[in-house]
Amino acid sequence: MAKSVPHISEEYYCNDCNDYKDFLDVNTNWKCPICGNYVQIKIVIGNTIDQSCFRIPVSELNSNDIVLLHRNADFNEVLGITNFGDKVFLNIKEYGSLKMNKDDTILKLNGGWYH
Ligand SMILES: [Zn+2]
Repeated sequence: MAKSVPHISEEYYCNDCNDYKDFLDVNTNWKCPICGNYVQIKIVIGNTIDQSCFRIPVSELNSNDIVLLHRNADFNEVLGITNFGDKVFLNIKEYGSLKMNKDDTILKLNGGWYH
């Protein structure tokens, strides 16, 4: 459940190339094939404003990052990160602890979607 999977509504945009990207061009590492930066991923949740996220490996998360665990949930803040072998234990506000593999991906909030 924790691993971030693509959703049919997602759109992908590279801020540096100022261009939309195709799913098949970004779905291996969620980076732009041209410039190598993470592509913005449009997240549509209910009737709220569309949000821009990056899909990153859990190992690249930092405390205070805002993440989306589930499409039907809210964005929550990462309060703490503990590494344990190839696992990562996240302490997430209003959710609790979550064990993930380091190479699992997670949606990190970037901001509003303005494209
Ligand atoms: Zn690019």
